[in-house]
Amino acid sequence: MTVERSRITVHGVVQGVGFRPFVARLADDLGLHGHCGNDDVSVFIEIEGKSASVSEFVRRLRTDAPPMAVIVDATTQPVPVRGDESFRIIDSRHVPGARTLVSPDVATCADCLRELADPHDRRFRHPFVNCTNCGPRFTVITDLPYDRPNTTMAEFPLCAKCLAEYRDPADRRFHAQPVCCPDCGPHVFAEVDGHRIDGDDAVLTAAQGALRDGRIVAVKGLGGFHLVCDAADPTAVETLRARKHRPDKPFAVMTADLSAAAELCEISEPESALLRHAARPILLLHKKSTASVADGIAPGIDDLGVMLPYTPLHHLLFTRTPGSDVDPPRVLVMTSGNLSGEPLCFDNDDARTRLTDIADVFLMHDRRIAVPCEDSVLAVEAGAVLPIRRSRGFAPLPVVLPAHGPEILAVGAEIKNTFCLTRQDYAFCSAHLGDMGSLESQRAFETSVRQLTHLHGITPEAVVADRHPGYSTHHWARRYSDRTGVPLLTVQHHHAHVASLMAEHGLVGTTVLGVAFDGTGYGCDTTVWGGELLLVGPNILDTRRVGHIQPFSLPGGDAAVRNPVRVALALLHECGITDVGGLPCVEAIPTSERAAVESQLQSGLGCVRTTSAGRLFDGVASLLGVRHRVTYEAQAAIELEALARTALHPAPLAMDVENDQLRLPLLVSGLVAGLRDGTPPAALALGFHHALAAATAGLVDRAVTATGASTIGLTGGVFQNRLFLALVRAHWESSGYRVLTHHRVPPNDGGLSLGQAVIGAAATMRGP
Ligand code: ZN
Ligand code: ZN
Ligand code: FE
Repeated sequence: MTVERSRITVHGVVQGVGFRPFVARLADDLGLHGHCGNDDVSVFIEIEGKSASVSEFVRRLRTDAPPMAVIVDATTQPVPVRGDESFRIIDSRHVPGARTLVSPDVATCADCLRELADPHDRRFRHPFVNCTNCGPRFTVITDLPYDRPNTTMAEFPLCAKCLAEYRDPADRRFHAQPVCCPDCGPHVFAEVDGHRIDGDDAVLTAAQGALRDGRIVAVKGLGGFHLVCDAADPTAVETLRARKHRPDKPFAVMTADLSAAAELCEISEPESALLRHAARPILLLHKKSTASVADGIAPGIDDLGVMLPYTPLHHLLFTRTPGSDVDPPRVLVMTSGNLSGEPLCFDNDDARTRLTDIADVFLMHDRRIAVPCEDSVLAVEAGAVLPIRRSRGFAPLPVVLPAHGPEILAVGAEIKNTFCLTRQDYAFCSAHLGDMGSLESQRAFETSVRQLTHLHGITPEAVVADRHPGYSTHHWARRYSDRTGVPLLTVQHHHAHVASLMAEHGLVGTTVLGVAFDGTGYGCDTTVWGGELLLVGPNILDTRRVGHIQPFSLPGGDAAVRNPVRVALALLHECGITDVGGLPCVEAIPTSERAAVESQLQSGLGCVRTTSAGRLFDGVASLLGVRHRVTYEAQAAIELEALARTALHPAPLAMDVENDQLRLPLLVSGLVAGLRDGTPPAALALGFHHALAAATAGLVDRAVTATGASTIGLTGGVFQNRLFLALVRAHWESSGYRVLTHHRVPPNDGGLSLGQAVIGAAATMRGP
């Protein structure tokens, strides 16, 4: 039997994530001896034992690592055998000047939950219980190195008991920077009708009572405030919608636990794992017809965004308060604490001001939030993660790039904004910042850029923006460039989408045939793009449009975005269909509006030409009578997808591929004929998904033949549509082609900044 010893050095986020205990358990499992420890930038391990077990150890180090660990690289080298007789964790070493990766926030761990529920524990019902394996991180850090004085916990000096735990290498709270207890930690308090309630139990009783009575409570969480109400109370839900000025956009819910979530939704094995993931994202799940939540939570759609409690305060909200006769809630609406279109409230005074007309009760605490961070939103598609919004629990973890490059600031898009900073081979994407339409949002963007450039120690060598001159982020980048002298680069929207997909797969430097389908993006000609087939690479700067959807008109430009009924009329016009009497879209539009739209379509005045796939979905939704006006982005398309999922069989529809275009006439006339002969709209909706997917695949196949590309990428907001994504991808199953979809950053504009950053880095390295 050969015995060998290896030294392994692991870089990445491997601290404060339970990595060393995992290493010790793994070594034990495999009968290996040695030690492990950490310095500021790495975990180092020495193990010895049977060669086969050592190899197995190296393999499982990556595959079985704890959920919050991010291994950037691991190097292994053989060293002389020393004959250790056990495996132990040794003391930390400090490397002066090292810049660690910042950990994201981590949901309360099982050990802390046990203490929270244990009347004999000194942290029984303590709303801030945390340890090395859990608690706030990113949202409390004001500076690096990550030590208590550089967090918002600096205001709470440790008591003697907490200090002893903090200093004891054998304790679960060893070097846990936010550690605290009821004696030394922050406190919760409530404000009801202008008067303040103190004392944990009194505060929780007040909040639970208010929720039971149908009132709206603003709850301070990890990254900001939530607006909360009882999910089973339709009046409370409607009140919240009215006060928040958010008529239709789905609300997320938080359930007491996994079994409460399972009463609402179907949950597969991978979905259950993601719900319980330490990042505690909102997960989009299929709603059961028996779910006892108000219909107003997600009108018109069959998915429900569900998350589990992730702070001790959340857990206490769902637990009966001692001495109180109020039943704790099972399911709560939890939506971002802001007015529609404004940034998230994360400061007590700001919340008191901006949420005063929405919330009846405030449940707050005196721990400051250093960096606001919205909840993340994920879905599972074909057993894998599909990110919809990458934020809390993931930010500020880097996406690792294949090579070292310059320091870049990429400012992202206009809606669902994130920005991205690069340093060495890391790309740090910001938390979700939302729509940049308001001044407040732009101010929040500015603050966040300042915080993160400081935290990551980045001095940008270039600032990258979308080519669209109307984007506020484009204006901001121009001003930034003027002020600092840092060169401004602009990148075409869909080029950035494809680059983002390539970057997350480590494929910068290769060639990808990218299908970029989204709402709208500034094109390279006079049309608004959004249904594009782009060949990108092998140089990431090189892009060529090799196909697109047939252009059609958007009468009134942005007005058409809010009114899919106008897009429906435009599609009919484009396809020369004049016999439109009785069609749902024609019935739904007032005569005067229809006349105005038709004269615009005739003359072309006030019309923008577009190839947008998102608008095509909108137009079809209106043609089929699903949705004629929208109050949130992609509403019509989302409802069309939901309807399509209810169909048993697709209606037989088809779409022509001619040269480099997906042609509309056959598709639109097929939809009209289907409506006329009484085909159910659901079958037509599903048939449309099939027809567009088949035609898209056909267009890609032609481009594959013409270009020799063998990797296909699916990106853009339309690929949040899981039905469509699956149908498109199915065309290349067992074909030998590699089909890329998003798993790390969203396919929508939230992922755009990553693509901008890698293009900006390549352009900067090439030089002017
Ligand atoms: Zn813990
Ligand atoms: Zn204490
Ligand atoms: Fe886009």
